[in-house]
Amino acid sequence: MSISYQEAVGVSTTIEIIACIFALFILRSVMKDNKETPYLFGYFISSLLFFYFLNKSTLEIGNTGWYIEDLFGTITSLFFGLTICKKGHSDGLCKLLIGAFVIFICSIPFIENHVNYTMTFSALCILLAFVSLISAEKLNQADKGLAIFIAISLIVITYELSAIPSSISRVDYYKSDFYYPLVYFSSLILVLTVFIFTSQLINLTSKYKTLATKDALTGLYNRTAVYNLVNNQLALAKRNKQTCSVVMLDIDHFKKVNDQHGHQQGDDAIKLVAEQIQYCTREYDISCRYGGEEFFIFLTNTDSNAAFQIAERIRHAVTEQSKDKLYGPLTISVGLTQFQEANSLDENIDIADKALYASKQAGRNQTTVS
Ligand code: GH3
Ligand code: MG
Ligand code: MG
Repeated sequence: MSISYQEAVGVSTTIEIIACIFALFILRSVMKDNKETPYLFGYFISSLLFFYFLNKSTLEIGNTGWYIEDLFGTITSLFFGLTICKKGHSDGLCKLLIGAFVIFICSIPFIENHVNYTMTFSALCILLAFVSLISAEKLNQADKGLAIFIAISLIVITYELSAIPSSISRVDYYKSDFYYPLVYFSSLILVLTVFIFTSQLINLTSKYKTLATKDALTGLYNRTAVYNLVNNQLALAKRNKQTCSVVMLDIDHFKKVNDQHGHQQGDDAIKLVAEQIQYCTREYDISCRYGGEEFFIFLTNTDSNAAFQIAERIRHAVTEQSKDKLYGPLTISVGLTQFQEANSLDENIDIADKALYASKQAGRNQTTVS
């Protein structure tokens, strides 16, 4: 079955309009704050104009042999490249694309075989987009899908470039069979839209997940997240008949740090303690910023003797690492208990908290086991 040029343009325009409506709805909410959004918007507008003028394939610019759709096709490719390069944070490649576009525009009067020329420019945009995407730091599943589709587009356009005669005119091009990729490229716009938005949603979800579970200052778990995590570990420990320990930890005379050196130094002190906790515990232990300068640590497969060793290691490390700081040296008080299965998690935390209070009462800078 073969389709006529007019049918190809009709299908392309329909797909393009569906993509635009879909995108406009989502752009309003999801991608408002993104750097690539204006370029994506430019991409939709210019591609719509491209397909519109493709339908009226007689609009020649003066007597140059160039058609208005050549121009919009090129602008569409430029916006496509810019969208992906911005998404991949490749500012250098964006500048390269804009430079190439300026050269393209300036060279229009001197070039005769514009069909190949515009397509070569499009191929360059797709190539740079591909390079930008695969060299980005973290690719999520949607980004990988996007990269595959861009790679396929690159193959299609390279094939097209090698297949069409180098001196073909725009009018002959329309009469030939070479317009078939038109449908492919408009479908690509739809596929691209879906991938770009999905990628954005994946990134947003993981960002909000981090915000919801981690404390922004220290990167440790926050109090809300820690209950679920600890309960999961407890279930596992029960099955494996392992003992666990609960540790509570508080910086001594922290108000003085804030009062004497300011809030920023206070924040730095909290960060230092969090770093030392992470440094002295294992990957599968659960560390949490429980309150202002109070921390909670759940130690898996650790009895109270081993927990005491770990607590002391943290206490010494905090003092050692903070001794040369403006706010230093810091001391901390610690209270801990081996997890008692007869009691709830909250009750165990309470027991450790009372042990911490005992450390404070006994003169601070020490660890009490309850
Ligand atoms: P103690 O030895 O008895 O623990 O004395 P303390 O001065 O440390 O007393 P307390 O634990 O009650 O002090 C908590 C202080 O921590 C009060 C509050 O201003 C400060 N704080 C809480 N959250 C933050 C924070 O995020 N940044 C800073 N800089 N200070 C905080
Ligand atoms: Mg304190
Ligand atoms: Mg406190």
